[in-house]
Amino acid sequence: MTAHSIGHPVPSPLKGVLERSSFASLIDGDEVRGIGQPVALNSPTTGKPWKELYAADAAIASRAIESAHEAFRHWRLVPACERAEALRRIAKMLKEHRDVLALVMAMEMGKTLREGRSEVDYTAGYFSWFAGEAERVYGMTVPAPSTTKRLMICQEPIGVCALITPWNFPLAMPGRKVAAALAAGCTVVLKPSFLTPVSALLLGYICLHAGVPAGVVNVLYGQDGELGPVLTSSPLVRKLSFTGSVAVGKKLYADCAATLKKVTLELGGHAPLIVCDDAIVEKAVDAALAGKMRNSGQACISPNRFLVQTGIYDEFVPLLIEKTLRLKVGDPLDPGTDVSRILHSVSTQKVERHVADAITKGATLHTHGSEPYYPKVLVDVTPDMLVFQEETFGPVIAVTSFDQVEQAVALANGTDYGLAAYVFTESARIAHGVAEALQAGIVGVNDALLSCPQASFGGVKGSGFGREGGPNGINEYLVEKFISMAF
Ligand code: NAP
Repeated sequence: MTAHSIGHPVPSPLKGVLERSSFASLIDGDEVRGIGQPVALNSPTTGKPWKELYAADAAIASRAIESAHEAFRHWRLVPACERAEALRRIAKMLKEHRDVLALVMAMEMGKTLREGRSEVDYTAGYFSWFAGEAERVYGMTVPAPSTTKRLMICQEPIGVCALITPWNFPLAMPGRKVAAALAAGCTVVLKPSFLTPVSALLLGYICLHAGVPAGVVNVLYGQDGELGPVLTSSPLVRKLSFTGSVAVGKKLYADCAATLKKVTLELGGHAPLIVCDDAIVEKAVDAALAGKMRNSGQACISPNRFLVQTGIYDEFVPLLIEKTLRLKVGDPLDPGTDVSRILHSVSTQKVERHVADAITKGATLHTHGSEPYYPKVLVDVTPDMLVFQEETFGPVIAVTSFDQVEQAVALANGTDYGLAAYVFTESARIAHGVAEALQAGIVGVNDALLSCPQASFGGVKGSGFGREGGPNGINEYLVEKFISMAF
């Protein structure tokens, strides 16, 4: 082993995790509790206290940054092939702990066990993908303007990265950032949502037990008002990668200006889904519904605004309503549940507000239960309704009809969001034309379940900038260095 090689993995960190009653921030490989009393975390699934967490304060956040800064001196020099091996071990450990991690997510935020398992595999996929990417960070040589010079452009890890993630994908959102950062040779301070810290902490322990040295992955638990300013103002933090709402993203972007951090913003979306007259009806309904009801609609790429062409409307909409009302709504821990009865409180309020506003303005509601967590189809939705203008983040489908494809594209592009968009058609000409005209970072053609580690994920317009995953995802954590050698 070289001086900068990494250690051997040690036994599983997740043994007995569900029995563990308390957690705290993970800094430099140790649990750091601070001086305050622990906070009781209730499980929305059982309605009972689940875990206790010791919240970090600003001093602990600074310690996490210093730990990451110190670890960066060594981690950046670990050969890329060794970093890649560590990432592969993390992917393997995630899959080995699929069931326990799915259960943790079900307890933390009410995701169904089935979706939790698939989130674990999705997260593991990012570690596998970025293991490959770590080994393929190339520079270039450039023809020099004189025979006595040689020019090189190298890629280097940017340094300490602050990663701030939301509650809706408690493992995947941290995972896809951590995987890319570690592959590039960066170290991280991860701040998950205070609602879902356990999944992120377990990811931190898995990294440690997979042989990633202490201090490379630090995980903070605490209130954003206490920790956020420390992360955004520290000159030691060279990069912020944020996933969350547009409003918070804009604030953090401004907060990072004073220290000129590189920033990635993965913000909200309000995806249109266009169904053209020539779409295959049942295929389109099934695909659209699968994409829409994932995580009870609490996904940034969730198709929200269904734009259906008049020629197919009378066939598509009744089948959509029928299949929506057939979904089994229930306990996330029940393996037969299609849609969880647990909805985030903000989503609950938004569903209620959007549905009430739409009905007042003339839409018709189809649902099999009045509670906000029941899947809902609103028909005859018009652009002046809130449900058409704002991201609902819940199991609500808003249906609007259109005559001409150009009209649908104009409606689709008519908000400030630009994350995902979908079109269903059997015509290659329409598919190409619409995909090119849509103002979105991600377009699905006859596909509403499209996110994967192999392709880039990110938005345009008000949905932010920067990409995660795919061939360019690692670049978010790299900086170029130009070296000119004169002879
Ligand atoms: P949020 O309120 O913006 O919170 C996101 C994260 O930022 C959480 O960790 C939150 O901490 C933290 N935060 C909030 N205010 C902060 C501050 N002033 N300083 C530092 N950190 C702060 O978003 P959310 O409601 O949890 O998540 C839903 C949103 O995320 C939706 O709009 C959704 O579309 C978007 N999203 C986007 C993507 C994507 O890839 N584009 C993926 C998933 C979700 P606390 O939770 O502890 O307050």
